[in-house]
Amino acid sequence: MGDIQALRGTRDILPEEVNYWQQVETVAKEILTKAAYTEIRPPIFEQTALFERGIGEATDVVSKEMYTFRDRGDRSCTLRPEGTAGVVRAFIEHGLQSQGVQRLWYTGPMFRYERPQAGRQRQFHQIGLELLGSPSPLADVETIALATDILERLGLQHLTLELNSVGDASDRQRYRAALVEYLTPYKDQLDADSQDRLTSNPLRILDSKDEQTQAILEKAPRLLDYLGEESRQHFEQVKAQLTALGIDYKLNPNLVRGLDYYTHTAFEIQSADLGAQATVCGGGRYDGLVSQLGGDDTPAMGWAIGMERLILLLKQLKDPPDPRLDFYMASRGDRAPAQALILAQKLRHQGFRVELDLSGSRFQKQFKRADRSGAVACLILGDAEADQGTVNLKWMATQEQSVLKQNQLLANSEELRQQIWQAAHQE
Ligand code: ATP
Ligand code: MG
Repeated sequence: MGDIQALRGTRDILPEEVNYWQQVETVAKEILTKAAYTEIRPPIFEQTALFERGIGEATDVVSKEMYTFRDRGDRSCTLRPEGTAGVVRAFIEHGLQSQGVQRLWYTGPMFRYERPQAGRQRQFHQIGLELLGSPSPLADVETIALATDILERLGLQHLTLELNSVGDASDRQRYRAALVEYLTPYKDQLDADSQDRLTSNPLRILDSKDEQTQAILEKAPRLLDYLGEESRQHFEQVKAQLTALGIDYKLNPNLVRGLDYYTHTAFEIQSADLGAQATVCGGGRYDGLVSQLGGDDTPAMGWAIGMERLILLLKQLKDPPDPRLDFYMASRGDRAPAQALILAQKLRHQGFRVELDLSGSRFQKQFKRADRSGAVACLILGDAEADQGTVNLKWMATQEQSVLKQNQLLANSEELRQQIWQAAHQE
């Protein structure tokens, strides 16, 4: 092994795993496109101030997880720890608010300096979505429904949608006061982080994993009891509409998201099959963020799916995504390899997946590789076949062989496709 290795908390996605990633990207893109969401690709690094102002300085993300550096022009830059702030910056910068409701999605790497463990990395990936410009509770439900659609289409089970409302800024202000008043007498018994948060960001204490803190919280005032009339109505409509769509949810009054910009609906989709890092998708409404970043007051709702956690789940499923190769193309001789490439290209143009053996080694060796490749059939071309314009087709499962005219093979692609499908689904 060389002495330079990938940085702690980063991973190579190797060819054997990449099918899972592509499957997720394909399914997400298809489902989001059908709902009229379009992709947006903001840069991976931004001015540090964007995240400080957008996410909130007292959050874990900004206070201790950001990759911040000075560039050669002495600007403070930060590798994006999440996608929403950049999307909102682009939304404001390009005047997208004047174009009505915007439905956007993104995917790509995010960076947070965290302790690496299963499902938690320093470079990780998200697929996320933002619906900007609608205050309607139906917007909340549309986005949640799309998240559940994606996860369900991928075949995931044992998922729970946890739901809460964190109200608007004034609800939270009243609640914060009540929570601080309740917790202050217990200050010495809270975990160290929560003691700090009592002054900096008391709502985050609700999210503490510490058992003693959790026990103290059991009798704490509930955020849901502090919602104003408008917030309550919004939340009632979200719940009713989820029910109407047949989407089950579990109320979790302690659900507060890690970023400060959330208002009203907050949700997480948890998996029972993930252990400690159980949240696959998190999101909520963030009506204050656009104006906080200097845009016109714009209501918005969004979520992000953690790709690494999703892929851990996909790997537990019985049927892995289909990386199936249709043909392995073996050839040997003076003229055969060059012709094999031409035939391979023609088959690829017809939509078949073809791997070309370039080794020129003995056929026996090439057949071994054909076996290992998982191809459904092997096409074999020696100089004799090349001269006659024929090819030997061998089905891997039965070892049945036949000699065909190359033209005939290419002319009957539909039949060939069916034969391949049948052969692949026989075992
Ligand atoms: P957690 O509580 O697990 O740290 P979070 O609240 O910080 O999550 P969000 O900022 O809401 O997470 O990000 C949305 C999703 O992105 C998470 O639910 C998770 O699936 C994924 N995610 C967040 N941080 C990481 C990470 N360091 N490594 C891998 N995935 C992550
Ligand atoms: Mg986190």
